[in-house]
Amino acid sequence: MHFDRGDVAASEFYQELRPLLARTIDVHGAPDGGPYLVEMVIGDVQPLGLAPAVFARLTPDGCCFSPQPTAVHSASPAHRTLTVVAACYGAGVAIHRAVGEGIPNPPPDRLEIRYDDILPDRGVLEEAVNLGETHLAGAGAIGNGFLWAARHVDLRGKLIVCDDDVVSSGNLQRQVWFDEDDIDDPKSPTLCQKAQPHIPGCELKPEPERLQDLPNRSGAWLKRLIVAVDSRRARRELQNELPAEVFDASTTDIREVVVHYNDALSGLACLGCLYRADEKEASQDQVIAEHLGVTVDDVRASRISPAAAVAIARKHPHIDSVSIEGQAYDSLYKALCATGKLHTVVGKQVVAPFAFVSVLAGTLLLFDVMTRLARPGLTRTNEWHVSPWREPFSQGRLTRMRYVVCECCGKPILRSLRSRLWTSEELIASKA
Ligand SMILES: [Zn+2]
Repeated sequence: MHFDRGDVAASEFYQELRPLLARTIDVHGAPDGGPYLVEMVIGDVQPLGLAPAVFARLTPDGCCFSPQPTAVHSASPAHRTLTVVAACYGAGVAIHRAVGEGIPNPPPDRLEIRYDDILPDRGVLEEAVNLGETHLAGAGAIGNGFLWAARHVDLRGKLIVCDDDVVSSGNLQRQVWFDEDDIDDPKSPTLCQKAQPHIPGCELKPEPERLQDLPNRSGAWLKRLIVAVDSRRARRELQNELPAEVFDASTTDIREVVVHYNDALSGLACLGCLYRADEKEASQDQVIAEHLGVTVDDVRASRISPAAAVAIARKHPHIDSVSIEGQAYDSLYKALCATGKLHTVVGKQVVAPFAFVSVLAGTLLLFDVMTRLARPGLTRTNEWHVSPWREPFSQGRLTRMRYVVCECCGKPILRSLRSRLWTSEELIASKA
């Protein structure tokens, strides 16, 4: 990576890009004589010519990445969270140029991102936004990304971070707050402890349990829920806690980020409508069961039982059965994919997850939360599809109606219970 140290926009971009990229490939601030796959030329500097160049040009309103320095560059920086967004797209372009093959729907030669397409009113980034009491379900990749972006804004209130999982080596590729020293430590307290000094206005309260296993869950207990878990099934369970409102982000491997919102009053799609138990999920259960050496029913139980743990350790001798008891199947599977330990079993390339995709998802989730809280009514859609490799396009924002036979809101009793629990409209950030 190459830039002028006096160029503030370029320096901030470098500071945000480096930690994201370093989770995936080796990054050097200055050449050390080694061979390089790609040179990231940031701002108004000449390339060193040691490798094919990607020119990163930044302005307060957007960023552009291309093999020629075509767009203008300004040394006055964008808001720092938007620089996180620029770093995510820049990481994608750099990874594509460096390793190229095998990335579905790869970036165009010239990728230009306009921040107006990412965040409709950037004024919210300058304001204190009060979360009240909000629960965050999931301290994994997207939960990490959410609090990573939140370093640069003024969140207030209290965020209760729920996760019963521990950090494993396979998580480090995507979970940007965690490092080697955190392995085997519980995710939720570790994340809260690391992020809290950077987010002083908002109390982070760790809860080393799954949200749906917390005690004292009855009635109108869950006002505002941010969902950053990694399974479809867990999303449906969370929706059945009947929260007043739900902010959700997910990633479809490395291809897509989906941001979703629902509340008790709109009558639009819920997490159950969007993440219904479909054929794909059934076949994914089958794939996971086969690779881990357990039955599909085991996988559907969500958590690894002691007997299943023994079966998994039989098939994967490097795994200690006791250490995986109680873990989520999805988490174990993703962690194994990330460390490449499944490659020999699967017999084909498993696309590794990338930190920048999760950080982009967490950042867009933060933007959605802040926009709906600070600008009620501004966001009219309830679902947003974004490629981490391409410009956002307007058809990516859509309004999804209810799925009539949804296993959550398709039951009239649950639907009316939810709206009766939350009759007061002021509890709801916005009505889509
Ligand atoms: Zn539904």
